[in-house]
Amino acid sequence: MSGFSLKVASSPRRACDVVFVGAGHNALVAAAYLARAGRSVALLERGAVPGGYVRTEELTLPGFLHDTFSAVHPFLANGPVFAELGDELSEFGLRYVQGEVSTGASLPDGRGAVVPTDPQDLAVELARLGEDEAWTELLADLAPHLETLLPLFGMDPATPEATALLDKLYDQGAPSALPFHKLVAGTAFGLIAGRFRSEEMRSTFVPWPLHLGVGPQDAGGAVWMSAMIAVLTAGNPAPEGGSGRLVSALTALVERHGGTVVTGTEVDEILVGEGRAIGVRTTDGAVYTARQAVVATTSADRLYGRLLRDTPGIPAGLRGQAARTPDRRGCFQINLALSGKPRFCDPRLDLGGAVNLGRGVAELVTSVRQAEDGLLPAYPSISWHEPSAVDPGRAPAGSAVVRLQILDAPSRPMGDAAHDVAAEGGWTHEVAERFADRVIAEAALHVAGLEDMILARHVLTPADIAAANPDAGHKALSQGFFRRHEAAHRGGYGTAVPGLYLIGSATWPGPGVNGASGRAVARALLSGPRL
Ligand SMILES: Cc1cc2nc3c(=O)[nH]c(=O)nc-3n(C[C@H](O)[C@H](O)[C@H](O)COP(=O)(O)OP(=O)(O)OC[C@H]3O[C@@H](n4cnc5c(N)ncnc54)[C@H](O)[C@@H]3O)c2cc1C
Repeated sequence: MSGFSLKVASSPRRACDVVFVGAGHNALVAAAYLARAGRSVALLERGAVPGGYVRTEELTLPGFLHDTFSAVHPFLANGPVFAELGDELSEFGLRYVQGEVSTGASLPDGRGAVVPTDPQDLAVELARLGEDEAWTELLADLAPHLETLLPLFGMDPATPEATALLDKLYDQGAPSALPFHKLVAGTAFGLIAGRFRSEEMRSTFVPWPLHLGVGPQDAGGAVWMSAMIAVLTAGNPAPEGGSGRLVSALTALVERHGGTVVTGTEVDEILVGEGRAIGVRTTDGAVYTARQAVVATTSADRLYGRLLRDTPGIPAGLRGQAARTPDRRGCFQINLALSGKPRFCDPRLDLGGAVNLGRGVAELVTSVRQAEDGLLPAYPSISWHEPSAVDPGRAPAGSAVVRLQILDAPSRPMGDAAHDVAAEGGWTHEVAERFADRVIAEAALHVAGLEDMILARHVLTPADIAAANPDAGHKALSQGFFRRHEAAHRGGYGTAVPGLYLIGSATWPGPGVNGASGRAVARALLSGPRL
């Protein structure tokens, strides 16, 4: 690797222990741990505000607070990041709220199911559905794996500590009815639909791994399904006031401890000297030097293809390996401002949980396949979330905000499974609006009078999401699987360049507001010497 000779006069703010490319929540989490421990940090963010895909805005009308992207944070709020930083974050206004119901399902004929956060209420619901025995058996089968699997979500998978846990997962000693390798090969559909008879129960759980980019029939989905069962039964919290409160609290924490968050600044290049990352250069030519590390929230293809484009010594095979295979499925999201409170046939679904609206899991499998084939699905399935049900300050009195998330949308439509919308030209304004009409009509099968309550709507397509951050990671199987030895990541957060770390959705454990990669890299840096 080449020696880059750094000829800059370092001003204090431009020379830090750790420089971050991007200020999404993972970078802010990492910076928070480092700054609290006395390391100097600078975060350079291209956008006008920090937070990446964590943001709250009045997208529709004044007084209606919508989450532009992510909304619920069960992995972060119920995990180690909040346990460790929560006290200080609460000083800056972060408070998580959730209803009595974590998730559930609604079918067009009015049938519903709920997963209450109270275990006794959950037992009552399982008995009502006749699924109590199947549930007990499932949890008994998963319990030995979950004990080991859940800590793994907070570790760098390339460390010996994580390898030991993986070994333990694969070799549990006593024979088990559901050995780990069957989970790794299994699908979410197989795990759930093979055990539960009721459509309500199947529809409650099978869609969830889609939130992590894993389809109902994707291999490996059974692992993610298991983790989501554990997480969702504990609750599905969102920050009071909206997702953006996480970012404002993290930013304030970083700044309290001397860190700097610079917005409107794009990193163009990572500088490598004497065989290690020594800083970054921004598009306007400014250089920030890093004494210990550079930490980038980007994807492997953008790291090796753009930020390290001129760095010699990186094997061509590694650059090729990092090249991205485009995602076939994307996320389509509608935020609604409603004049009144939406009501399901099953009133328990009005309690603020994230509810799956669909026509059953067989139709879900079809719609996911249609999306993967580049088609607008004829009957899109919907993840429905009404934050104002538990957080009334999100909307003016008597009104409501709702997020409709469609995870079986094509990344780039090439046709319409319903043969109604001319979608060959991709996500044009017309296609987006017509598809939004279809989604809302589908939702109205579950919530009577929905269309008449809509005051305003905001539509976000997969193309809009990609445009908001071209560096966002994706969740192809090759990026999130156990024991992958993708040299681009060295299996974990380290890269081909010493002192350079990759975090965010493209790294373990994949997309989601979890702070896991940020925390893991901060821990690694804090255990190393301060240079
Ligand atoms: C529509 C949508 C809905 C979602 N809903 C949920 C949900 O409800 N719950 C959940 O848990 N997850 C959800 N997710 C996923 C979750 O939001 C993301 O996985 C998570 O926010 C990623 O955080 P991050 O910090 O890793 O990176 P990002 O949020 O991607 O932030 C990275 C930041 O780095 C900046 N950056 C990158 N390169 C550069 C550069 N060269 N120079 C300067 N800045 C740079 C970007 O501008 C960006 O701000 C959703 C995602 C989307 C898109």
